[in-house]
Amino acid sequence: MEAFFLGLGSKAFHGRNVFKWIHKQGVTDFDAMTDISKRLRGQLPQVAEIAVPKTVFEQPARDGTRKWILELQDGQRIETVSIPDEGRNTICVSSQVGCALDCPFCSTARQGFNRNLSVAEIIGQVWIASRELGAVPSNIVMMGMGEPLANLDAVVTAMNIMQDDLAYMVSKYRVTVSTSGIVPALNRLRELSDVSLAVSLHAPDNGLRDKLVPINRKYPLEALIPACREFVRGDKRRKVTWEYVMLDGVNDSLQHARVLIRLLEGTPSKVNLIPFNPFPGAPYQASPADRVEAFRQRLKRSGLIATTRKTRGDDIDAACGQLVGKVRDRSSRELRQQRPDNLKLGIT
Ligand code: SAH
Repeated sequence: MEAFFLGLGSKAFHGRNVFKWIHKQGVTDFDAMTDISKRLRGQLPQVAEIAVPKTVFEQPARDGTRKWILELQDGQRIETVSIPDEGRNTICVSSQVGCALDCPFCSTARQGFNRNLSVAEIIGQVWIASRELGAVPSNIVMMGMGEPLANLDAVVTAMNIMQDDLAYMVSKYRVTVSTSGIVPALNRLRELSDVSLAVSLHAPDNGLRDKLVPINRKYPLEALIPACREFVRGDKRRKVTWEYVMLDGVNDSLQHARVLIRLLEGTPSKVNLIPFNPFPGAPYQASPADRVEAFRQRLKRSGLIATTRKTRGDDIDAACGQLVGKVRDRSSRELRQQRPDNLKLGIT
């Protein structure tokens, strides 16, 4: 913003002021920015636009979860979810329209992939949630539609704005990026940002993970685990959050728990067990609650921190893996068949 205003022949501080007006005050009209000269205010609409995605509201869920369906300028739709819980308010933000990764238990994958979101479209979700909730969310998770690390540059810039003192001021410990494990992008992220890391593990060995998270064929566990360990090294407050969706009869036995314990040895870890949220045509079923609990207890006995994620917002299809937009699938049939090696991820 400073560079933009300098480019107009104006002053850098105007850039900071406009940035604050937009993100702190929620102002979208240049004329309301009263600490900016009339002349500059008149000039801005000719060279700039403050555009907010169009919101299609949903009824709040019984448990207070809310979902916003956002229509972007090209007619694509994405979803953002807000989850209030004991004084906290977490928002779940999307990074792409659809997703290219094809994990068979996720309904976003079903729609295919269309495009990356821009920085404005990512931070616009935080802007809308803050306005609608009347407060900045306490926690932000990049766990909505899409694979954030396949849209790394835009996601990093948006996450910087989330943390910026002139904008939302959310602490780095409360901004979390969730990834299926694109190792080269994870290594780059470590150099660019110090947000918190969650990884969709879902299986303790390559054989099973190749099926559940197909990108594993390209970046197997022996590459992923050390990259994650490196990510949290040097900060004692940091742990990797491992997301593990509990699928009935697939990955939920005590034997799987034992292999998982061995896999995570030496990595500061928190395991978050996610009850599977079914969707029409899903090829899996949720593990029974007592099996989830037995799995969790087995992890705890080994000294791991293990929690079970509360399923929220399922009556409005806002639960994990249920987010669906309106995607014109541009991922070709050939591309699908060649997966995962020739994935077009938008990274090099
Ligand atoms: N692509 C990123 C961000 C998506 S986050 C990633 O893979 O981490 C969404 C989280 O919900 C991931 O852990 C994902 O594996 C999980 N998830 C997807 N479908 C689900 C479903 N049907 N039930 C429960 N969790 C699901």
